[in-house]
Amino acid sequence: MSAVIVDGRAVAAELREELAAEIVAMTADGSRPPSLAVVLCGDDPASAIYVRNKGRAAERAGVRFALHTPPAESTTGELVDLVRRLDADDDVDGILVQLPLPAHIDAQAVTERVSQRKDADGFHPCNFGRLAEGHPGPVAPCTPLGCMELLRRSDLEIRGRRAVVIGRSTIVGRPIALLLTNADATVTICHSQTRDLPAVCREADILVAAIGRPGMVDSSYVKPGAFVIDVGTTPVNGRVMGDVDRASVEPVAGWLTPVPGGVGPMTIAMLLRNTVSLARARRGAGEEVG
Ligand code: NAP
Repeated sequence: MSAVIVDGRAVAAELREELAAEIVAMTADGSRPPSLAVVLCGDDPASAIYVRNKGRAAERAGVRFALHTPPAESTTGELVDLVRRLDADDDVDGILVQLPLPAHIDAQAVTERVSQRKDADGFHPCNFGRLAEGHPGPVAPCTPLGCMELLRRSDLEIRGRRAVVIGRSTIVGRPIALLLTNADATVTICHSQTRDLPAVCREADILVAAIGRPGMVDSSYVKPGAFVIDVGTTPVNGRVMGDVDRASVEPVAGWLTPVPGGVGPMTIAMLLRNTVSLARARRGAGEEVG
């Protein structure tokens, strides 16, 4: 047996097309398209690439994209003012502050100015709290949503399955575990203090690796036929490496999301999904995720 390699680029393209059709319908009455404002401050080259990719994807889907590039020497107060203005601007549906910000900026003071109703990233404590309550609002964190979408579009029944998530960060591990729980999986969260990690992971029908340790998950962690989602992205010698040792796991797993080309492209697609959902919610046609 060899795992089905899940093509995140193809699924993301499919999703963008669906969003584009949704946006055409939303704007048929002359309304403006959903809009995303991105704040990029500083000269981190990786951030510049991420933001460029987000802009391109937004353009392809028909989401209006406005890039704000305050200079690297801006103060925390200036960035807070910018986010506050965007938050008050009726023509903006979603706001994303690209991290990391320059070291002298208090990043939390800036990001917490993004209100719940414009939270394109899905990190606002109220949106997170609703996810934890099992009553999600219009948005959730993008990478976890992307993982769920890959599962759903692979026609795997999630209800009743055993899922194991390695990693308990707020941006990946915890929200994935909540989304899986809300989808009726039975979920175990593992971390650096988990004992006998491979044995726990071998119980999983769905195994999510969100660790940041290249190649750590080998076949000894995988139940035959499991759906293995590799969230890890670590630069190694100019290449991006996942947490899963593909050569070892591919012969055992049922499905495997590759790195690159698996979860990564889905993250941007779900940012657009969140933006469209926020626009809908602001226009009074709210919808739920998860
Ligand atoms: P993080 O905040 O560093 O969290 C890593 C988690 O892994 C922690 O919970 C940690 O446990 C756990 N861990 C570390 N070493 C371990 C070990 N030996 N055994 C078991 N658990 C271990 O990282 P993150 O932000 O969640 O990101 C995880 C990975 O996903 C990174 O490679 C990141 O680049 C990638 N990522 C990818 C995307 C994408 O779009 N594809 C998006 C976001 C993140 P403790 O809590 O005990 O420390």
